[in-house]
Amino acid sequence: MDSLPLLADHPYASFLDQVEKPARYAGGEVGSVVKDWASVEARVCLAFPDVYDIGMSHLGFKILYKLLNDDPRTLAERCYAPWVDMEAELVKRGLPLVSLESARPLRGFDVVGFSLQFELTYSNILTMLHLGGIPLRAAERGEDDPIVIAGGPTATHPEPIAPFLDALVIGDGEEKATEVALTWTRLKREGVPRRERLVAIARLGAVYVPSLYATRRDPDTGFEVVDRPLVDGIPFPVERALVDLNRYPFPDESPAGGPEAIFDRMSIEIARGCTEGCRFCQAGMIYRPVRERDPEQVVDTVMRAVKKSGQDEVSLTALSTADVSCISPLIKKVTERLTAERISLGVSSLRAYGLEPDLLDELKRVRATGLTFAPEAGTQRMRDVVNKNVTEEQLLETAERVFSRGWGKMKLYFMIGLPTETDEDVRGIVETGARAAGAGRKAAGRGKPVDVTVSVSTHVPKPHTPFQWAAMDTLAEVARKQQLLRDTVRPYRAVTLKTHEAHASVLEGVFARGDRPLADVLERAWRSGARFDSWDDQLELSVWEEAFAHAGVDRAKYLGTLPVTARLPWDHIDVGLEEGFLAREYRKALQNRLSPPCGKVAGTFVHHTNLEDARADARRLVCYDCGVACDMTQMREERLTFLDRLGAHKRSLPLITDAIAAASPEAAASPEAAASPEAAAPPEAAAPPEAAAGAAGEPARAGEEAPSRREEAPGAAGGAPRAARAPQGRGGFRYRFRFEKTGPVALLGHLDVVRELPRVLRRVGAPMTYTAGFHPKPDMTFSPALSLGVISLDEYVDLRLERDLDPAALGALVASMTAASPRGLVFRAGAKLGPEDPSVSKLIAGARYAIAFARSAIGGDAEAALAARCSAALSAASLPIRREIERLAKMVDVRQYLVRAEVGGPEVLSALARAGLAGDLVALDVEVDIRGSGAVKSSEVAAVIAGEPGGAPGAIVPPPHRAVRLELFGRAAPAGSAAGERFSLLDLERARRVKAAPERAAPASLAADAG
Ligand code: SF4
Repeated sequence: MDSLPLLADHPYASFLDQVEKPARYAGGEVGSVVKDWASVEARVCLAFPDVYDIGMSHLGFKILYKLLNDDPRTLAERCYAPWVDMEAELVKRGLPLVSLESARPLRGFDVVGFSLQFELTYSNILTMLHLGGIPLRAAERGEDDPIVIAGGPTATHPEPIAPFLDALVIGDGEEKATEVALTWTRLKREGVPRRERLVAIARLGAVYVPSLYATRRDPDTGFEVVDRPLVDGIPFPVERALVDLNRYPFPDESPAGGPEAIFDRMSIEIARGCTEGCRFCQAGMIYRPVRERDPEQVVDTVMRAVKKSGQDEVSLTALSTADVSCISPLIKKVTERLTAERISLGVSSLRAYGLEPDLLDELKRVRATGLTFAPEAGTQRMRDVVNKNVTEEQLLETAERVFSRGWGKMKLYFMIGLPTETDEDVRGIVETGARAAGAGRKAAGRGKPVDVTVSVSTHVPKPHTPFQWAAMDTLAEVARKQQLLRDTVRPYRAVTLKTHEAHASVLEGVFARGDRPLADVLERAWRSGARFDSWDDQLELSVWEEAFAHAGVDRAKYLGTLPVTARLPWDHIDVGLEEGFLAREYRKALQNRLSPPCGKVAGTFVHHTNLEDARADARRLVCYDCGVACDMTQMREERLTFLDRLGAHKRSLPLITDAIAAASPEAAASPEAAASPEAAAPPEAAAPPEAAAGAAGEPARAGEEAPSRREEAPGAAGGAPRAARAPQGRGGFRYRFRFEKTGPVALLGHLDVVRELPRVLRRVGAPMTYTAGFHPKPDMTFSPALSLGVISLDEYVDLRLERDLDPAALGALVASMTAASPRGLVFRAGAKLGPEDPSVSKLIAGARYAIAFARSAIGGDAEAALAARCSAALSAASLPIRREIERLAKMVDVRQYLVRAEVGGPEVLSALARAGLAGDLVALDVEVDIRGSGAVKSSEVAAVIAGEPGGAPGAIVPPPHRAVRLELFGRAAPAGSAAGERFSLLDLERARRVKAAPERAAPASLAADAG
């Protein structure tokens, strides 16, 4: 049953708190931009075909959001795929999918731009189009429908999704997003017909408009390939866009403060592209050449981003961060600046092999529980095939070093199903893990536990890689190899084997190398219920089986070995590689031959870390003439300039290890500091913001599910250190703040609010102190958690700030905090606490709620009816109700906690209005006890007073209502005694006179609005 609307004028207001994580759909984050709709020429909806929590971590999305909103001619809003529960609600209610910022349906925008990160999100694109009110197929769209465009890594092999898209931007999206949006809207204003507008868009270059190209069946493979353009003057093949990154500095702000994103930190892209040339990795091929951002610009961006975001962790990201030429001095420079701000630094994908002992010492100092590396293959031959430049000796040396420093765990990532793989290679995966464990056991010493986890996924051959012609293992073969792994691991007790569900990988393989006829399969599967196919618990295999059968499509065709000479369904997309390059690399792979990294000095794997060495080294840089035509002289010069700008002049300059030590002098001084390299940044985002959709998510490796839904992805070469925050114990100065939670923040989980508050304080320049211990946390205590959707006008938090503030400064701080908070988080007052002042959790003895109902929901004389119910409730000896927590039911006697219940008067109705509740309302005004032993929820009070029995035995269903916590208070007499005089939690004089009782707050397990 619907609740009273919590967000005024939002189309989902009446049922938002009935879906999982409602704040995913509410918007209002800090840094979200709501521009005047009428003030711009083009309105773009950036659409991400996965849930908010995943989409919010994608850097390309952030780049385009800022770029389009900074331009006075354009605006950008966001929309993420609705989770299945929300989709069901929208369908049931006939409501459209709307943007987060202005709650407009997708069909109301000029441009809808999808981010194509992963083939298994295609069904969600159809969901979003359908719910957004846009015809599914491009051919069905009318003159007034938005242009539906897409970009991202999978836009480079788009045929299975092409019929649903009007256009795809190939390559970097920074320039094209604005150009496409403005061209489209200008031509529309001029009355140019849709098809001619599409032709004009195609002529912009780096834009593929599928409807303007003819396809034909290739006789060799049976694939439908793109044959020729149907109109003059459009590109064939379509070349990708390539931008100078330094003309587009990475954004220093983006929306934050909603539900927790999968990578909850400030990630800054420091380079695009990669030098390593792993043959399974599409990102390493399609984002060539490696382009590094000016390190001075990176440092400035980091500092501004920290200030604006309030985040306490920054991550420098690239496909292979360790291979960015100036990474060591850059880390040093960044950490010098961050140390003063007590911000942790994460560096994704540092090289795992040949790890310097000093670096491991640093890692160990932060008390990691384990380290993660990605050798990818189990034998040297296989590592040579995939061009993974690492030897087993390096891996074993690393294992020795890891375990000799006291770590008990190490995780290794591998793939099965790689070209030329034999059973020996498969067994080699486990045996490599076992040898690492053996080396580790020796190094760890007798009796020390050693555990090596071997995590094995299935290789998916990807277009535009040397393995694009290779066969993918069938499900039966994957199952056989997984069994072989299980058989092999049996004697090795120190090795833990993890294999991954392969059905999704096979589907990914089909759609990766698929052609246009697969669009029919996709639509059929979607119509039959396919959603979130990359989520193991959502993938419905039977639906896909039926769709393939119905369309008469044989999946095996897409999974076998392809002739190197064949025309392929993605041949019309030119990612910059010369025709023969991939084939040469494929042949080398089949001959077990390595191609050492390009763009580095021949014979080296690590860049010089100082100008002196870099200048002195006149050896040539490796190049394989892949086709992107790097200017090696310019590359060398740019690197010298970067080292110069970072002040990395002399050979004695610190390496990465020293930089990290410098970043964290406190960490060096204390073993308490805690940051787990296992929790260190995985390699988010190194891809560009393709098209208006934005990409730059985690560069999922070939054969892998997006890292967001699997175990934390390793870096290209393993875990990375973070500069640890100084433990501060109980230092600093104590304050109590009173605040309100209304609007979208009332839909935010308690833990999200807990996460957000330290960031608010950092944004306004008032950082908190942290607890001591292995995992230092901001030192704060909140009043009891509220249930989702319960509004509060009286919340409290006790916390410690680094600064001593006089009353005027504290008042100014309170005033500034609201502006730095998500919409609906409003700070009202603050007080400085003395060392002896009892904490808020010891003082809270009760709460007062307004429980509002629509008059129509009560019926008749609503006030009289509620008054009668109140008196019956107060006369009852007990008011039992069934409560379920994590499927465990127990009976709770609400009467034990109910102190007062009456019909709310004008004061309550005015509080409801202040809480944002409108309409013809009638309210209960209730007071309940909050005790250390327990408390009751406002919904339980609403149920026992105004509800009807229903559902399970003992359950009572309240009428649709909305609760507002009006007041939290202490009592001058023990809890449970209504006679005790109430006092405000900011009345410190009074609070000091109360002998602090043992912890009064309700147990956390209740997680309720009263406890
Ligand atoms: S042109 Fe040469 S250096 Fe540049 S990416 Fe290609 S192979 Fe590497």
